[in-house]
Amino acid sequence: MSDIEPIIDLSRIAIHTATTKPLAIEQAVEKYAELGFGGVSVWDDVVDAAGTGRVRALVQGAGLRVPALVRGGFFVSADPADRAASIGKNRHRIRQAAEIGAEMVVLVAGAEPGVPLESAREQATAGIAAILPEAERAGVKLAIEPLHPMYAADRCCINRIADARAVCEALASPLLGVAVDVYHVWWDPDLEREIEALGRTGRLLAFHVCDWKADTGHLLLDRGLMGDGVIDLRRIRGMVERAGFDGLIEVEIFSKHYWAMDQDRYLELIAERARTCV
Ligand code: ZN
Repeated sequence: MSDIEPIIDLSRIAIHTATTKPLAIEQAVEKYAELGFGGVSVWDDVVDAAGTGRVRALVQGAGLRVPALVRGGFFVSADPADRAASIGKNRHRIRQAAEIGAEMVVLVAGAEPGVPLESAREQATAGIAAILPEAERAGVKLAIEPLHPMYAADRCCINRIADARAVCEALASPLLGVAVDVYHVWWDPDLEREIEALGRTGRLLAFHVCDWKADTGHLLLDRGLMGDGVIDLRRIRGMVERAGFDGLIEVEIFSKHYWAMDQDRYLELIAERARTCV
């Protein structure tokens, strides 16, 4: 779509720490800032290992914004004690997000073999409702991330933007919205209409990019870098921008291939592909 201007200014891009998993948080924020990226989304393992004070000092020192702490959720279980524990853990993630200065916590709904999808969806909605007061206290947004239906059995029972949007509408909190990750929703025939509806209702909180390789070696750990696969990223960016999204574009790639690469070279490649493919 030629009416979308290419990205020139990398300050519009944030990198997920999981994207450059081999890098320690100290190196990661230094390198992201050096290349001109505007932000970092920090994964839970990084926050747990480094502590919120250290993470906050590092990102502030580097002048980076923090769109998200990734990730909370996983509300679904046949065992009520597990469900209660998950709610406690999510409240903790929300407090951590506030402490590191993250704008939102990304939520993956959860799913468990043996829990029927209808029940799973009810449990996920109830879990999100239970943590909303903590999000309101902390002033942290919650972004429900629909995951591709291949994860419906064991990871995420909310699979389309429409379903995530329905949860937002049922719970009606101004802090609740949706993270649009191209990897999970690029195939959706309702994509444009749903993104437009999210924008109209103020619920388009995040835009995650990577690529879907038609010849992927692994559905979790062989995601493509932008331009490696079949997703029309510039077209989808056009949709989110027309819907009013002006947040940071987050690069989120889990890839054994790229983790094995020299991470400086990889970050240069991310910068190049952000400019040419997104
Ligand atoms: Zn994502």
